[in-house]
Amino acid sequence: MKKLVILDLDGTVYRGSEPVEHAVEVVHELIKQGREVRYLTNNSAALPGQTTRKLLGMGIPCRPEWVYGSGQAAARWCRESDFKRVYVVGEPGLREAFEREGFSDDTHPQAVVVGICRSFTYDIMRHAMHAIKNGAKFVATNLDPSFPVERGVFDPGAGSIVSSIQTCSGVTPTVIGKPEAKMVEQILSDARLKAEDAIVVGDRLDTDIECAHRAGCDSLLVMTGVETRVPMGQGYSDDLRGVLNL
Ligand SMILES: [Mg+2]
Repeated sequence: MKKLVILDLDGTVYRGSEPVEHAVEVVHELIKQGREVRYLTNNSAALPGQTTRKLLGMGIPCRPEWVYGSGQAAARWCRESDFKRVYVVGEPGLREAFEREGFSDDTHPQAVVVGICRSFTYDIMRHAMHAIKNGAKFVATNLDPSFPVERGVFDPGAGSIVSSIQTCSGVTPTVIGKPEAKMVEQILSDARLKAEDAIVVGDRLDTDIECAHRAGCDSLLVMTGVETRVPMGQGYSDDLRGVLNL
């Protein structure tokens, strides 16, 4: 049995403000089985405390230290890269993640970090471009082109903002979120476990399952989110219950 179960959130554990069917009972059962549970999201705007409150409100067990978002992961990656000054293009949640890692100064930035930013403007794009042209590292929380806001409706995601800065700067960003393996590697390192001890569960092949693959972990595709087809050889389940005997 896998000691560590890494769960994607949207489309896997909840959809919008509703838990996915059987998610509540499955997470309780995983903990009863003595396994470690972690939540993995590309959303750079939500802080672990907010995500924890949302999950607890649905009756799903969670602690803030179980939540790994691309915002916190980006801040941690910048700290570990020894950057001191970072220009953050994002929501208040992303800026707060950087403040919590000790970043406060964004003059002459050594890195430009870009996430979802609903207040994005031409001036912000210009500032980011000039910083990157002057040698700052270009970092993207994720490249998701869009994200679901309500049933069947999508809004532009972080990737659309990253693309505009990539176009004007001519630089390709370092990506933190899924499908890159960095967040899973942070989880494994914190839990002091190896890739073979963990399984990544998610509803998207191009992010969750690809991320598991790059991190060297087994994966389970659930059919409660975006995917409707299963590639040959991919482990899948109609819903989260499939992880209970893995
Ligand atoms: Mg998902």
